[in-house]
Amino acid sequence: MELAEFRAGLDRWLDDNEAALRPDPDKSATLDGQMAHTNTVKRLAFDAGWMRYGWPARVGGLGGSPLLRGYLGEALAARRLIEPGPYSLTEVLAPTMIDYAPAQLAAEMVPQLLRGEETWCQGFSEPGTGSNLGALTCRATRTENGWRINGQKVWTSYAQYADRCVLLSRTGTVESAHNGITALFVDMDSPGITVRPLQTMHDVAEFCEVFFDDVAVPADRLLGAEGQGWAVAMDILPFERSTALWHRGAYLHRRLQDLLDAAPDGSLSPRDVGAVLEQMYAFRARSRQTQYRLDAGERLGPETSIDKLMLGIAEQSLYDLVPAALGPAVVSAGDREGRAWRAEYLYSRAATIYGGSSEIQRNIVARRLLDLGPDR
Ligand SMILES: Cc1cc2nc3c(=O)[nH]c(=O)nc-3n(C[C@H](O)[C@H](O)[C@H](O)COP(=O)(O)OP(=O)(O)OC[C@H]3O[C@@H](n4cnc5c(N)ncnc54)[C@H](O)[C@@H]3O)c2cc1C
Repeated sequence: MELAEFRAGLDRWLDDNEAALRPDPDKSATLDGQMAHTNTVKRLAFDAGWMRYGWPARVGGLGGSPLLRGYLGEALAARRLIEPGPYSLTEVLAPTMIDYAPAQLAAEMVPQLLRGEETWCQGFSEPGTGSNLGALTCRATRTENGWRINGQKVWTSYAQYADRCVLLSRTGTVESAHNGITALFVDMDSPGITVRPLQTMHDVAEFCEVFFDDVAVPADRLLGAEGQGWAVAMDILPFERSTALWHRGAYLHRRLQDLLDAAPDGSLSPRDVGAVLEQMYAFRARSRQTQYRLDAGERLGPETSIDKLMLGIAEQSLYDLVPAALGPAVVSAGDREGRAWRAEYLYSRAATIYGGSSEIQRNIVARRLLDLGPDR
């Protein structure tokens, strides 16, 4: 299906199904409610076909350009029918799962993610190894039937809801750094896994500590080859830093409009609003270019650090308008909408951390794109 036809058909379907797709405001005030609703929307969109476009037939998709799935995310976020965070995990994890999982495993698992029957999480960061991911120590040892995992992950988003985890583990020596890492697809209900949610400053337990004590993982859950986990990570991160943020950009445009509607006359200076719009359109233009490169069959790589940097700048500049528009009280109290603004204002601080901090993205731009020499 062509993009124009997809857009027109999807917009009609969204208009016609607004009542079923719209979140219940009471329930969507909690993370439990947001997670459940995002999965409901995915199921409805999958059953109507929309969620299947842009994904290959071998994982339950209907084929077509990745631009189609990009427009779906954009339309859902712009209408505030999904939460951008949980929704993005599909775009972060599914493409790499399709490329690296054994074909049968991908065919069985990916449709469950697309249809919102399952939630997956990304087990990369560990205490002390967030930016320095190549030094991770969560260990996988070979057993007769597969692997045994011991160690800890941290900042694992939505792990308390997750059915599966794409886990980076150490199989070689720590000295072997990037070459001793192996990626595994782990069932989160395996004996030996303990998940402890962490409270964030916006009062949502969005990410977790995850402990692995002698967790058995079958041999057929290997993603790629043993020792190829760094390649898997380098495949996931470009999606996390670019295409997974496209719909977030659409959400920011919607929230700027909401803010302008809510702000009393004269509370925002046109110059400040103009500066934010400039950042948001700069991100959108960059992100659009990335979408089209993916559509043309290009492999995404370190250049996506630019997309991630621009998203962080745009998101924080937008939410920096909130205290001026709605008064400083909005960041400490308020009604339901006020609490939503407060949560988003505080969460925007994370935009320069998750997916790799802005300092690390600048290092990647300097070292890998501009060839300005190694870290000192
Ligand atoms: C909301 C949120 C969700 C997240 N979800 C997940 C998830 O689902 N799965 C997952 O695995 N991880 C997740 N993370 C973790 C995230 O990837 C890490 O927080 C991030 O990579 C930074 O690592 P760190 O927290 O260990 O900080 P550190 O690496 O300790 O960095 C601390 C500070 O030092 C700076 N710094 C570090 N090294 C350098 C350097 N070489 N040069 C210049 N500055 C440097 C950093 O920029 C940062 O400002 C999430 C984080 C957030 C905030």
